[in-house]
Amino acid sequence: GPDAIITKRQEYFFPATAHFYKEPPQIVGGSMQYLFDHNNKKYVDFFAGVSVMNCGHSNPQILKDTIEQLNNIQHTTTVYLTQPMVELAQRLAEIFPGDIKRTFFCVTGSEANEGAMALARLYTKKNGFIALTGGLHGRTHLTLSVTGIPMWRLDDHLVKENIFFIERPYSADSSYEEAMDKSLQQLDAVLKSQGNELCAMLVEPIQGNGGIIMYPKNYLKKVKTLLEVHNVLLIADEVQTGYGRTGKMFCIEHYDVVPDIIVTAKALGNGIPISTFSTTDEIAKAYNRPSASTFGGNPVAAQTALSVLHYIEENNLVQRSNELGKYLKQKLEQIASPLIQEVRGCGLMLGVQIQSPSSSVTSAEITDIILEEMKDRGFIIGKNGLNRDVIAFQPPLVISKEDIDAMVVSMEAVLEQISF
Ligand code: PMP
Repeated sequence: GPDAIITKRQEYFFPATAHFYKEPPQIVGGSMQYLFDHNNKKYVDFFAGVSVMNCGHSNPQILKDTIEQLNNIQHTTTVYLTQPMVELAQRLAEIFPGDIKRTFFCVTGSEANEGAMALARLYTKKNGFIALTGGLHGRTHLTLSVTGIPMWRLDDHLVKENIFFIERPYSADSSYEEAMDKSLQQLDAVLKSQGNELCAMLVEPIQGNGGIIMYPKNYLKKVKTLLEVHNVLLIADEVQTGYGRTGKMFCIEHYDVVPDIIVTAKALGNGIPISTFSTTDEIAKAYNRPSASTFGGNPVAAQTALSVLHYIEENNLVQRSNELGKYLKQKLEQIASPLIQEVRGCGLMLGVQIQSPSSSVTSAEITDIILEEMKDRGFIIGKNGLNRDVIAFQPPLVISKEDIDAMVVSMEAVLEQISF
């Protein structure tokens, strides 16, 4: 039973293993935007396994292709040719922004960011990286070191000297414009003093784990202009924001700027692990060593990804994300509650900043109460932010207006009922 599973988890997992809820639900099934637990209780999923299941759980149309591929050939490595991996690379070149054309396949977001960083080093023949406070780029040694969330970050002496953080263009205490100016000034200063040593800056076009932080529209364009002067590349970490999540195919399109390297993962495989780092002809040439990933471009993952891209296109999921995102955002903004400080984000990547009205309880504690209450009412929602006090709404893009309406009604009731 579930109690036994919770006990085993406590006994055999690392104590620091993150989980939501006092007792995480034991999920045994999923169908599109719905999840089912061991008691056959139904939930509407507003978190999509951290922005992975954009096309819905066990989507039958996609699974059909996955299973067919499993029956044909399951694994080869990139050393041989398979149709799906080559076709997927071509399809990605068609949808990536600008001249981004060549793709290296890996398995996780962390691994793809590592690859992108290695590529930037090889191309520029320089070593240092710039990253934003509040950013999150993975769990490997180097990606942890460029992660700007204090509780995650590895402040490691091996690479420390080569990593420069600048403040993200967001502050609860100042306007977006002021925060942007400050961030750009810091970037300019770092580039002037260290530009000859720096190879790339990594950014999430919307910070996910950092609390759904979107930047002022012209921020990344200004960043790119400054970086170019010093031959420093821009790496867009679209691991969480890619494939329709924010109402564009890629979030970077909101900012009217083309990165040098784009990194994607999560939603590409709709639950089957696959990730990419991709770049132009010119930059790709600099990756001057034989390189193959055992599982990267695996035919099952690649065929699934092709099916995902087809499904997104056929069902207009990018537009759906944009429209339903506007609808949900408006509904969240209309909730009158002293616990809500701000609603942020775009498309179906929305965050509600929670604030505490009392010194006896923290905003993080209130956030946890809201998560628990919403779960009991049949809604799985997420949380993130530097203080774990931002409620995240990142549902499968196939979600319906009716699901959104029902969730908002419950959310209002939960907020109403919490008092201190
Ligand atoms: N980059 C971003 C923006 C992420 O959100 C994450 C994971 N949450 C990662 C990188 C790391 O991806 P993975 O867990 O697949 O290694």
